[in-house]
Amino acid sequence: MIKIAEWLHKGKNRQTISIIIIFIAVLILGYGTLEYYKIQKELGSHIDGLSMSLASLDQKNIELKNTLTAERLKNDFFENQINGISSTVNRLQKLSETDKELLQKYSKVYFLNENYTPDNLSVINEQYLYEKNRNHQVHSQVLPYLTELLDTAKIDGIAIQIISSFRSFGEQSSLKNEYAVQYGSGANTFSADQGYSEHQLGTALDFTTPKTGTTFSKFKETDAYKWLLNNAYKFGFTLSYPEGNTFYQFEPWHWRFVGTTLSARLHEENKFFYDLEQRDIDSYLISIFN
Ligand SMILES: [Zn+2]
Repeated sequence: MIKIAEWLHKGKNRQTISIIIIFIAVLILGYGTLEYYKIQKELGSHIDGLSMSLASLDQKNIELKNTLTAERLKNDFFENQINGISSTVNRLQKLSETDKELLQKYSKVYFLNENYTPDNLSVINEQYLYEKNRNHQVHSQVLPYLTELLDTAKIDGIAIQIISSFRSFGEQSSLKNEYAVQYGSGANTFSADQGYSEHQLGTALDFTTPKTGTTFSKFKETDAYKWLLNNAYKFGFTLSYPEGNTFYQFEPWHWRFVGTTLSARLHEENKFFYDLEQRDIDSYLISIFN
């Protein structure tokens, strides 16, 4: 009886212990679950916080990139400004060093100062001259254009020779007197008045041919004149006083160097130097020897 009662008693104890164990287990599980959700919640808010930080960092990054781009653009702008200014300075420098008289229109009321002399003159090789033993000079920077013109004409089978080139004021005056003696007062309109300034510049030349010689009036009919009309512009030369012009008498032999840019335009538009406004002509000064 006692053994059965003991067994029963032990059984009751076991039940109680089991219940206690189950209760503790439930407690632990409950606590664990609670902690789990707590941690989960904290992690969630942490992740949210990190996402927000990341988003704001991204935003900052974009802003920095934009600032950088803006700075770069500003930099480029200033660089362009500086380049622009330095090229303007170079242009102005070049322009200030170029003799403005070289592209000046002359007339009976506006002519070159008697004291004017070109910066540099070069002696023309006698192979290009009509009279071999004469000393002919031309503006030094015009010389290569002139010899190229004459060499090209020669290759084309056209003989062109120089009969007059640079003339100082003094030489011009004596020439004028010579003409006056030969032709009387008509000399004023004959040769010396207007073309005179251009010869004093050292950029104007009077051409002839071995056959025509000093009979200028015949030059109009020569192949040399036709060749010059079609080709002289390629070497920067233009006919100063064409047929029918209102500025001066027709001088088919008298050609003036104005630079290839301007001479090409004149040729293309079938115009002559004295047809253009001085302001328009002046814009070609910077490129006269290009
Ligand atoms: Zn002349």
